Amino acid sequence: SDASYDSNNIFGKILRGEIPCHRVYEDDDTLAFMDVMPQAPGHVLVVPKAPSRNLLDADPTVLSKLMPVVQKLARAAKDAFEADGITIIQLNEPAAGQTVFHLHFHIIPRHEGQPLKA
Ligand code: 5GP
Repeated sequence: SDASYDSNNIFGKILRGEIPCHRVYEDDDTLAFMDVMPQAPGHVLVVPKAPSRNLLDADPTVLSKLMPVVQKLARAAKDAFEADGITIIQLNEPAAGQTVFHLHFHIIPRHEGQPLKA
């Protein structure tokens, strides 16, 4: 149901070290890792370590730490992948396409004329 956090989700397991990930950034509050089904090369997911189901229930103090990391990694991805642009995606609830119920931001490098993979 909405607005509840179930720690038995795949990103909760990644944060607890119960399943592996390809880590690209970590600090006290934040973890970033490669998406296993990238929509374009360099597709990264950024998650707060604090439990939030999605943006709708997140504490603004969590967001205030998370968003500078999203910006930093978006800039780094643009340089590393020589991207023309960066798409940021963040989905809330199944009706919007959310499938993993721990808050996350997608960072996806984009190149002119190259649509995202499904
Ligand atoms: P959502 O649709 O909830 O915004 O996106 C969830 C994302 O998590 C998808 O892009 C999916 O490919 C990714 N994902 C699902 N399971 C795993 C996993 O076990 N490891 C990693 N690194 N990404 C995952």
